[in-house]
Amino acid sequence: MQKIIQLKLLPSEAASEKLIKDHIAGAEAVRPAAISGFTILKQSIDARSRQVWVNLSVKAFINEPFQQRELMQFHFREVRNALHAVIIIGAGPGGLFAALQLLEKGIRPIILERGKDVKARRRDLAILNREGEVNPESNYYFGEGGAGTYSDGKLYTRSTKRGDITRILNLFVHFGADEKILYEAHPHIGTNKLPQIITAMRKKILDCGGEFHFEKKVTDIIITDGKIKRVKTADGNGFEADAFILATGHSARDIFEMLYQKKILIEAKSFALGVRVEHPQVLIDSSQYHSSIRDKHLPPASYSWVQQVDGKGVFSFCMCPGGIIAPASTSPGELVVNGWSPSKRNNPFANSGIVTTIEEKDILPFEKHGPLAGMYFQQSIEKKAFEAGGGKFVAPAQRLVDFTKNKLSSSLPDCSYLPGIHSVQLKDVLPGFVLQRIQKGFVEYGKKMKGYLTNDAVVVAAESRTSSPVRIPRDAETLQHPQIKNLYPCGEGAGYAGGIVSAAMDGERVAIQISKIFETI
Ligand SMILES: Cc1cc2nc3c(=O)[nH]c(=O)nc-3n(C[C@H](O)[C@H](O)[C@H](O)COP(=O)(O)OP(=O)(O)OC[C@H]3O[C@@H](n4cnc5c(N)ncnc54)[C@H](O)[C@@H]3O)c2cc1C
Repeated sequence: MQKIIQLKLLPSEAASEKLIKDHIAGAEAVRPAAISGFTILKQSIDARSRQVWVNLSVKAFINEPFQQRELMQFHFREVRNALHAVIIIGAGPGGLFAALQLLEKGIRPIILERGKDVKARRRDLAILNREGEVNPESNYYFGEGGAGTYSDGKLYTRSTKRGDITRILNLFVHFGADEKILYEAHPHIGTNKLPQIITAMRKKILDCGGEFHFEKKVTDIIITDGKIKRVKTADGNGFEADAFILATGHSARDIFEMLYQKKILIEAKSFALGVRVEHPQVLIDSSQYHSSIRDKHLPPASYSWVQQVDGKGVFSFCMCPGGIIAPASTSPGELVVNGWSPSKRNNPFANSGIVTTIEEKDILPFEKHGPLAGMYFQQSIEKKAFEAGGGKFVAPAQRLVDFTKNKLSSSLPDCSYLPGIHSVQLKDVLPGFVLQRIQKGFVEYGKKMKGYLTNDAVVVAAESRTSSPVRIPRDAETLQHPQIKNLYPCGEGAGYAGGIVSAAMDGERVAIQISKIFETI
């Protein structure tokens, strides 16, 4: 017999296969030997009460042989001689998952990526962290795997409408991720594991006859009769195909500028901007798990919050338990921070973006810059942050309570941010309305989470690249750009995703749509 059983266990029990079997046997009133095995379907932590529980939903095999979890199968086809080819600009999750879906549909993907492969990219990140020098073509945003590669690899999304999350998670497992991402409530992969997975995806694309071109920055698109005929790359080459997926992410400002110059329709959209806050992980653990020492069977604790301040949202974004604050800049002279965690989340700090929504009407030079106003607004704050830090990507910082009171911190605590931090008044970096909303948000959340509002935490700026300030419009059904029939805007940069999973789902969606259109040709 196979049966689905719900269990509420102590963390130590949930970590032991034998004890889980004993609990299943107890729940079913059979001997433990009758349980041949089980698979976990869902796992979540309930830390609402003093005793922290692990909730498990398991499929138990009782008095019948155990069967391993059935993983999804994928059929990537040989596409060397395929009838159609599609150029994908950008090898982030949007572009990569579009390519994999195209292989399943028998269409040849040709990927053009401005950055380097994951291995070479790592060297540029080391230079940025150690020497404070950014390579504008190879950094935390640009390069194989896109922005998601050197991230926390958190694989959850609030967007369930756009596609099949289970399929995306199974694809990650197919290419080497741990099966536990299939059942954990908040799955994550970790920066140290993502590069191998991305490399395995590239190998599959190449083995099937797809193409992967690194250090090919698309700089122009040649349009004839309402269709893209060819894209040009910075090295003077040209590439042709039947359709073009533009999945360049929200930091490809040159792409937005190129589209604007060519009078190709783009729109300003709201986005979020603010700071990153870092606490000692033990402080977050003891507050969330109600104990000064974290049970060794529990993961480093996380948090997530939203506060309404004067009718505007202030919220935590991309919280990284046991993580590192990263210099996520893409250009010299512009300072951007973000966060990541290794798979074990075993660094002594917990960081999170704390941001507020910026709407068109918040930005004054809108008339001057049209759809790019938000992008220039982001950029102006990044420049101020760089200058305030004093150069070499040293980040301007303030202790948390001091930040809420506009008080210069006389010293700063230890911080995971490798280029270093410098004490400043962040009111000199952030626009007044952003500063005040975030200050109030911290104070309000500080009333809810014990120990959160403390000067042991440090606030660094600028967390400016949480979402795209530009949308590249597309028809809701055909997914084509309204002016250019064979252009398919895709992923976060085009405004259709926010995070790894939703960008991957959008890539799949666009690829499926293209395959349907090819069927009619
Ligand atoms: C440090 C960090 C941590 C993050 N942590 C998480 C997380 O834990 N979970 C999560 O869901 N999300 C996280 N994110 C966000 C996530 O990575 C993005 O939402 C996601 O990668 C967007 O996917 P995308 O394919 O749309 O664009 P991107 O991943 O931005 O990919 C765009 C690609 O296009 C390439 N490109 C740009 N311009 C050109 C051009 N002109 N020619 C050719 N190629 C070009 C870029 O080099 C890049 O590889 C994190 C981001 C960062 C930076």
